[in-house]
Amino acid sequence: MARSSPLTPIDHDRDSAGMTYVYPVVSRRAGGVSVGINLNPNNACNWACVYCQVPDLTRGAAPEIDLAQLEAELRAMLADLLHGDFMQARVPEGARRLNDIALSGNGEPTSARAFPQIIDLIGRVMADFELSGKIKLVLITNGSLADRPRVRDGLQKMAALNGEVWFKFDSATAAGLRAINQTRNSPDKQFERLATAARLCPTWLQTCVFALDGTPPSDAEQAAYLAAVKRIRREGIPVQGVLLYGLARPSMQPQAGRLSALPADWLEAWAEKIRAAGLPVKVSP
Ligand code: SF4
Repeated sequence: MARSSPLTPIDHDRDSAGMTYVYPVVSRRAGGVSVGINLNPNNACNWACVYCQVPDLTRGAAPEIDLAQLEAELRAMLADLLHGDFMQARVPEGARRLNDIALSGNGEPTSARAFPQIIDLIGRVMADFELSGKIKLVLITNGSLADRPRVRDGLQKMAALNGEVWFKFDSATAAGLRAINQTRNSPDKQFERLATAARLCPTWLQTCVFALDGTPPSDAEQAAYLAAVKRIRREGIPVQGVLLYGLARPSMQPQAGRLSALPADWLEAWAEKIRAAGLPVKVSP
């Protein structure tokens, strides 16, 4: 799924490196470069979040991934970043370091059938570039497939690679999942998938909040979210915390005109309520 992340890309064009699967994200704010891996060059996702930044988003899964091409692209990108002139030529001073490799593309990455083989491939390349244990491997996912055996397998492999999962968690109600993510997934099933992911690999909740038709999340929405946070704590599910986002970049979906950013103090107040319910929160307006 698309990164709605603390990175403020100054070069986030997935075609900028002329590659199919691999693209650089340069961030002044995060003080470094992230190597993005897009397993959905077909812009296909099984969800259709109203704030999604993917243009021409379609419903569907990742296509068959050409693993040899992916590996060649990743090696070429890392060679350019670590041994070439990419940093000098394209990255502002103060951000000339490699932060992470992130599976974050134009759709749901875990819908790639070869997901566990792709994690193996990334691990092999990281080892060859002596990056193992030095940078993070981040998976940005809607989590809807986290109970599939091949996805569980991939998550377990990620844990051994300093992996981190950013698990989309915008709403804990069926109505919210329908309205925000346009999915009929049940909140209970999603909660179980979250627990599965968190037990396999360090996992953060990734939550986007905004006003829809001028209205912030309702009291019932907020209560359900906080109840889910308390349940995470009560059941000892090892979630690391919440990455809380506002509307950082414009939606590319038909609902874009109905969305608006909430004031920074609303976000801060919401973060405080989540903290009081038991999880650490990092806010990115
Ligand atoms: S999960 Fe949502 S935000 Fe992510 S790619 Fe799919 S539709 Fe877009």
